[in-house]
Amino acid sequence: SCTLDLDGVGFRYKGGHDALSEVSLRLERGIVGLLGPNGAGKSTLMRILATLAKPTRGRVQWNGEDTARRPDPLRRTLGYLPQDFGVYPMLSAREFLAYLSAVKGVSAKRAAARVDECLAQVGLSEAADRRLGEFSGGMRQRVGIAQALLNDPKLLIVDEPTVGLDPEERLRFRHLLSDLAVDRLVILSTHIVSDIEASASSLAIMAKGRLLFSGTPEALIADA
Ligand code: ADP
Ligand code: ADP
Repeated sequence: SCTLDLDGVGFRYKGGHDALSEVSLRLERGIVGLLGPNGAGKSTLMRILATLAKPTRGRVQWNGEDTARRPDPLRRTLGYLPQDFGVYPMLSAREFLAYLSAVKGVSAKRAAARVDECLAQVGLSEAADRRLGEFSGGMRQRVGIAQALLNDPKLLIVDEPTVGLDPEERLRFRHLLSDLAVDRLVILSTHIVSDIEASASSLAIMAKGRLLFSGTPEALIADA
């Protein structure tokens, strides 16, 4: 299964104010859209969910296990595309993913087949041997998804993936995430409402570190 439970999660940066307070929420399979203006706390929350930071209050559980105390079960099944994901422009897509597989400790023998599967999954088989420097922004983001898929994750965290993409690339990216969310929990942060209004199975709306709404898009409209 793929269930994340957040219970009273808070976070304060050293010497700063509360970047998150009292965030309680259950997330299950499908696309969860995390919405909010800049500074709302989306990236902070995603770093906590990706076990890159520990909550300073409350707890997060993945399938019933505390992710701060025992991060490994989640890390093994986590794919993360950070907002500032960069690629090596001189490498081909295939070379870059093979390199990342080696860094992640996948054996070279298994890696080659897995890299090709992931490139196929994101629609980049044809472009596998082209240099990343020649890729469009949308293609580069799909390479970012391909690297996040290398370990066949059940939880996929994607931070503001469509910034700077044109409408056609955004649409393609949305379809890709919908396909991936069939048997995964996909958490997508964005401030572009059209990225998620059609595809999200649930929404979490944040402002100033607090959760303003969580529920289905239908419930949000009914609330308004
Ligand atoms: P969002 O991703 O929604 O734009 P962030 O999680 O980046 O929001 O930021 C939430 C709050 O935490 C903001 O007030 C931001 O300035 C602050 N913040 C983010 N990163 C740091 C940091 N490294 N140190 C101190 N404050 C930070
Ligand atoms: P976002 O809001 O989309 O997360 P930002 O531009 O706010 O992006 O943050 C970029 C980087 O700067 C992040 O690594 C974040 O942790 C850091 N940062 C953001 N706000 C602060 C802050 N007030 N003090 C220190 N670092 C910050």
